[in-house]
Amino acid sequence: MLVEDWYREQIKKAVPPLLARWQLLMGVRVERFFVQRMKTKWGSCNHKGRAIRLNTQLAKKPPECLEYIGVHELAHLLEPTHSARFTGYMDQFMPGWRLSRDELNRAPLAEENWRY
Ligand SMILES: [Zn+2]
Repeated sequence: MLVEDWYREQIKKAVPPLLARWQLLMGVRVERFFVQRMKTKWGSCNHKGRAIRLNTQLAKKPPECLEYIGVHELAHLLEPTHSARFTGYMDQFMPGWRLSRDELNRAPLAEENWRY
């Protein structure tokens, strides 16, 4: 098995319990989630399609980073943009989110500026 496949399997296994818990806490619902390698994004959210994408590379980071990106993408179901309202949701649901953001920004895995 390729290392990349192994990373993907780790994320795929970790995500369902995480989604189950946070969907309940946040009162949102996603229809589908995808785990794939992305060059410049940790995750993304298709607001209308209620689908989230998570980067395979998150397997190389501490587990709280995956959780943070999961919550971040779920919060986009409540607010599609990175507005003050969005930050308000993050502060409400995950008060320590900035620590995970800083961890993600440390030793970047690619040259690009990461987005999510
Ligand atoms: Zn975002």
